[in-house]
Amino acid sequence: LGGSISRALQQMSNATIIDEKVLNECLNEITRALLQSDVQFKLVRDMQTNIKKIVNLDDLAAGHNKRKIIQQAVFNELCKMLDPGKPSFTPKKGKASVIMFVGLQGSGKTTTCTKYAYYHQKKGWKPALVCADTFRAGAFDQLKQNATKAKIPFYGSYMESDPVKIAVEGVERFKKENCDLIIVDTSGRHKQEAALFEEMRQVSEATKPDLVIFVMDSSIGQAAFDQAQAFKQSVSVGAVIVTKMDGHAKGGGALSAVAATKSPVIFIGTGEHMDEFEVFDVKPFVSRLLGMGDWSGFMDKIHEVVPMDQQPELLQKLSEGNFTLRIMYEQFQNILKMGPIGQVFSMLPGFSAELMPKGREKESQAKIKRSMTMMDSMTNEELDSSNLKLMNESRMMRIARGAGRPVREVMEMLEEYKRLAKIWSKMKGLKIPKKGEMSAL
Ligand code: GDP
Ligand code: MG
Repeated sequence: LGGSISRALQQMSNATIIDEKVLNECLNEITRALLQSDVQFKLVRDMQTNIKKIVNLDDLAAGHNKRKIIQQAVFNELCKMLDPGKPSFTPKKGKASVIMFVGLQGSGKTTTCTKYAYYHQKKGWKPALVCADTFRAGAFDQLKQNATKAKIPFYGSYMESDPVKIAVEGVERFKKENCDLIIVDTSGRHKQEAALFEEMRQVSEATKPDLVIFVMDSSIGQAAFDQAQAFKQSVSVGAVIVTKMDGHAKGGGALSAVAATKSPVIFIGTGEHMDEFEVFDVKPFVSRLLGMGDWSGFMDKIHEVVPMDQQPELLQKLSEGNFTLRIMYEQFQNILKMGPIGQVFSMLPGFSAELMPKGREKESQAKIKRSMTMMDSMTNEELDSSNLKLMNESRMMRIARGAGRPVREVMEMLEEYKRLAKIWSKMKGLKIPKKGEMSAL
């Protein structure tokens, strides 16, 4: 999605006259991209209509930064679509809240229950987990294992087959134990769908949850709207968590889930591990959706993981936009050495998501190390120049020989450099926001 939308906006910026025809072309392109990203057709059409209402062609004709006006309009519209207008119930520390999780089997409920509990526990809450999934064999074991790892109290049964009974018992027990976040995990599959929704209704009626969270796999595609709506019709869903955003997820489903449940997305899941869980933030999400990179998240991440004394230097380099091979070398070093810096760069479109694809870290590390060995054979002049014309054939041969690698690999490394330099150059002139100062565009 990101790619095609930014391409559409790019084309737009290249056009010298922006008239209705260009606007329509741009919108059509964005429409196609959003549909490909599993945003429901009706939502896309609504957006298109709204943009046309908002963007005034005369303003465009007169305005200086036409691209910015349209970009801002699309951005705002997508943000609005993700904001149902009312915040979800927020539990209060020290006061018992019951949170029920619903969603189809495999959507990531059990994992997300633990993440949610763990997230709050770290902030000083007293969470507890109740396994009301009596349908799936091994459901209780899975929850037990997760809970034990995170040192969170849990409740469930191998014998009892009535999910309502277990849910009620668990909630009662943890209320007595003064837990302030009692999380009820439920089943996601039944022989008959109607039976599942009936079960959800009964568990909800018996435990009176303060909040029902609908958990959705980000990769379910166009099914998102109907699925979310089906749950909303049987229990009163008040918030959404979108999981598996680390995969090839197309964020579009989140828009559908919000539209169908009229509830906000509160967290996203970004991996299988307990701490791969992030508070959902509309603007960075939309920035990412539009392929603009996640600026505010990016800056926060820099403030969070880059040592204070190194921040000015890194930001200075970023804003100069002059990406030399030496800078690439340094960033590779950081990625290998410090880990978290890799996370910083993964927030930029095309940066280390491709450099360090999840699950293939070992392989990628080896590749990065090989590249660094090749750069070790470069002269200072080569490292400090951003001019690739310097790299003629004889230089490449010399580098290859020096590193004991084939010339083909030197060329590949230079290709990679070109790709990264392009991304880096987008940061040129970047106004560096101070901590907490958000700038999404
Ligand atoms: P449930 O059936 O809804 O309870 O789903 P589970 O919690 O059992 O999760 C199903 C699978 O999805 C498991 O293999 C999880 O490890 C995996 N999973 C859950 N959340 C995420 C996520 O955010 N990212 C990734 N990559 N995998 C996830
Ligand atoms: Mg489960």
